[in-house]
Amino acid sequence: MSEPGLAIVGGHVIDPASGLDGPATVTVRDGRIEGVSPGPSVPDAERTLDAHGLVVVPGLIDLHTHLYRGVSHYGVDPDERCLSRGVTTAVDAGSAGAQTFPGLRRYVIEAARARVLAYVNVSVLGMISAYAGELEDLRWVVPEDAAACARENADVVAGIKVRLGYQMAGPDPESALLRARKAADLAELPLMVHVIDMLRPITWLLPWLEPGDVVTHCFHGNEGGVLDERGRVFPEVFAARDRGVVFDLGHGIGSFAWRVARIATEQGLWPATISSDIHAHNVDGPVFDQPTTLSKLLHLGMPLAEIIRATTAAPAAALRREDELGSLAPGREADITLLEVVPGEWRLTDGAEETVVASRLLLPRWVVRAGEMLACETATAQLEARAAVESAQR
Ligand SMILES: [Zn+2]
Repeated sequence: MSEPGLAIVGGHVIDPASGLDGPATVTVRDGRIEGVSPGPSVPDAERTLDAHGLVVVPGLIDLHTHLYRGVSHYGVDPDERCLSRGVTTAVDAGSAGAQTFPGLRRYVIEAARARVLAYVNVSVLGMISAYAGELEDLRWVVPEDAAACARENADVVAGIKVRLGYQMAGPDPESALLRARKAADLAELPLMVHVIDMLRPITWLLPWLEPGDVVTHCFHGNEGGVLDERGRVFPEVFAARDRGVVFDLGHGIGSFAWRVARIATEQGLWPATISSDIHAHNVDGPVFDQPTTLSKLLHLGMPLAEIIRATTAAPAAALRREDELGSLAPGREADITLLEVVPGEWRLTDGAEETVVASRLLLPRWVVRAGEMLACETATAQLEARAAVESAQR
């Protein structure tokens, strides 16, 4: 016997992977998408969810998060901080390495209601402590172990992560990069590279990257960024993008600067994927959650449908899971997010202490994970959390 069906009626559906952008009804049965029918028809379903005034999109994917709470100092809870804010697939970006990955798998990935995937850190330790960089002592950086871990956990692993900042790798990032490249090649998976404070220009790194590899923190304002000394996007950055290197937002705490984002987007460099890099040190501002991060791109002038693509179809492709994730195509596991575009005066702060006033904010209202409908944290609670941070800053 099949479970009762669900119909999401009255909403505006945006599903870039299917080319949908208009009023439509989405039906769900037995945990899977049954269909998407244009127009306001009320189908015959046991439960309906009224989506009038809401945008209905494939479940949000956040390509860069930190979820290893209790082991990594960055960790937050995936259900509290991602799923309850509309993210159905959260990707841990290197919190665990080969030696600490079994715990991430057992206590986080298998325990969460959110779908959790991961990049394996090339350091066997992962990102445990802020007191020492995970790549400072190369004895911890074993490509064969990282690749073996990735292969053994292929169902949940998307690639290899390396952080090339001097805080993690010391003054010379080359040895760490070469070991990460080797790990990704052995695992036959993409490499995700963190590029802040690299002490070398990004043009040094780019020739090492293959199509499908990810440069995260693409709009940071420190050393190793996408802009040259005169404030021009390096031509090598455009060339890398054009051959398929993925430039990912990775907001983080100091990894998104309004100044860099304005200059880069004016010159035509938009992030292919938008991720929050949510972690314990930014979850109560300036990041808050993935929808707030998406709202920042809305303020920069990115069209809503492109923003949705950058948090659904595009990260699904970066994860090499475009056949399973990031779309409302019939037969897929039913991961769906309902967002409200709320007009107002919204203060949005970057990682460099610049605040802008935006006229629209994306608020998550409902989320469906594998067919199960959940209310997001109430709008009141979301806005109160934001207001409390703002008043503390004044
Ligand atoms: Zn991160």
